Amino acid sequence: MKRQDMIDEIREYSGFWDVIIIGGGATGLGAAVEASSRGYKTLLLEKYDFAKGTSSRSTKLVHGGVRYLQQGNVSLVLEALRERGLMIQNAPHLCRNQSFIVPNYDWWGGPFYGVGMKVYDMLAGKLGLGPSKILSREETMKRIPTIEPGGLRGGVIYYDGQFDDSRLAINLAQTAQEQGGTLVNYMSVDGLLKSNDGMVTGVKATDTLNNETHEINGRVVVNATGVFTDSVLKMDDPASLPMIKPSQGIHIVLDKEFLPGDTAIMVPHTDDGRVLFAVPWHDKVVVGTTDTAVDAPDYEPRALEEEIEFVMTHAARYLTKDPEKKDVRSIFAGLRPLVKPPDDKGTAAISRDHTLIVSESGLVTITGGKWTTYRKMGQDTINQAAIVAGLENRDCKTENMRIHGWLKNADQSDPLHLYGSDAPSIRKLYKKDPELEKPLHPELPYIKAEVIWAARNEMAMTIEDVLSRRTRALLLNAKASIEMAPEVARLLAGELGHDEAWQLEQVDTYTKLAEGYTFGLSQPHLTLNK
Ligand SMILES: Cc1cc2nc3c(=O)[nH]c(=O)nc-3n(C[C@H](O)[C@H](O)[C@H](O)COP(=O)(O)OP(=O)(O)OC[C@H]3O[C@@H](n4cnc5c(N)ncnc54)[C@H](O)[C@@H]3O)c2cc1C
Repeated sequence: MKRQDMIDEIREYSGFWDVIIIGGGATGLGAAVEASSRGYKTLLLEKYDFAKGTSSRSTKLVHGGVRYLQQGNVSLVLEALRERGLMIQNAPHLCRNQSFIVPNYDWWGGPFYGVGMKVYDMLAGKLGLGPSKILSREETMKRIPTIEPGGLRGGVIYYDGQFDDSRLAINLAQTAQEQGGTLVNYMSVDGLLKSNDGMVTGVKATDTLNNETHEINGRVVVNATGVFTDSVLKMDDPASLPMIKPSQGIHIVLDKEFLPGDTAIMVPHTDDGRVLFAVPWHDKVVVGTTDTAVDAPDYEPRALEEEIEFVMTHAARYLTKDPEKKDVRSIFAGLRPLVKPPDDKGTAAISRDHTLIVSESGLVTITGGKWTTYRKMGQDTINQAAIVAGLENRDCKTENMRIHGWLKNADQSDPLHLYGSDAPSIRKLYKKDPELEKPLHPELPYIKAEVIWAARNEMAMTIEDVLSRRTRALLLNAKASIEMAPEVARLLAGELGHDEAWQLEQVDTYTKLAEGYTFGLSQPHLTLNK
């Protein structure tokens, strides 16, 4: 997957693309795989990098949504559980079965959640990942030795999926390209082309790496811009009313010692009625999340002090060792693209289901939903887009389509296992040049060859692309990632033909960004209410 080849395809083709997709997050990429695999001539344009938005900032769960079951939204859970099964089947190198325990500190918790989880198992049917079970206090403590023992009565174990969100995004881009699609990062859509009768006929886009502009014709344009949906709707109709209510969720990342073993903790009802997870991920523990309404979308949302305090306090409540500021390796925030109900209730009451609309101009907008349902969202979108564009009706092929890198039973102890079937090619790089086998940082598992691989095959253009989304260094240990930046800049510059000034500017930009994932020096001390 090479960016220059993609740009050349745009330059050389002046006809009408069948489908143009704006946005390279889970939703846009799912639509791109769907459209290209049906044989439609497909173009996806992403303003920054693939998964730069919400799609690299999730809790990393492939789930039916136990919480929606609590809300009685059975059809939503049914659909997500089916997609959960397909995601694990189609990208087994990135998605895996994860056991969760709901710890019970009340007498009624075991039976109550035990029954709920049986319903969850039943809805999953033959795509279930394992039967849930009520556990005694001893069994719960055996599985989670660091669970807070005071008042613990037992737990309920159940199974859901877990994955690496931005790695899946990159692999989806590669899959779409292998199916004939064209995908470009750092290409911002700034306006829509329209015919005299007001129908959308394409997009105006700017290559943000060299400011070159393009006018690109399309039979249908799909708006898959997540929390930025309203900005594209405004390009179509400046008078359009906002439909997105962004809701922020944050996570903190701790070392594995806080939750050793393979089992995650799920707290279905925190003080303010939210769901909280502590999930093992890449030899660390991800704890979150929150649900805070924010006024406007942002490309680099930052955790609020009260959100950090909320997550830290709850982590301390359920874990024997209370995390302190110095234990937090990274803090990351993401924005849910929730669709506003007409009467504008609070964010927790808003549907997590996806919304598909066709504007009078023919612009197709897809938003809401979740990572787990990206494939189904893509299928629904392209069904609709094909009608709008008058394309020949073609069947969906993605249900059983293997995602790039597909590899079953990859050896989890191999640090390159997330690359699936690409791992041998990365090994080849360092067999040829042993310098590339050297680690980029003693505290993280990444080696120099991964930077070369990301530049040559995964369209990484900046340090941030490599450290945040090709590897997950920024999310796993922000401080270590800052220390890795100069070497990543040097390796990238060698691959992409940049000079020393570029490297210095990149390191500076990255350092400023990554500092926002740490407790800044000005961050006031947290008081924990255990
Ligand atoms: C805190 C949190 C936790 C979550 N956890 C989970 C979970 O565990 N499991 C799960 O299934 N789901 C989860 N979700 C939901 C899931 O992450 C989102 O539903 C999904 O990532 C949204 O993807 P998207 O493609 O719609 O949006 P985005 O990922 O935000 O992508 C939109 C893209 O559009 C691009 N764009 C915007 N404007 C333009 C333009 N003018 N031109 C070109 N490109 C443009 C942006 O740069 C961006 O990359 C979570 C969400 C949050 C916030």
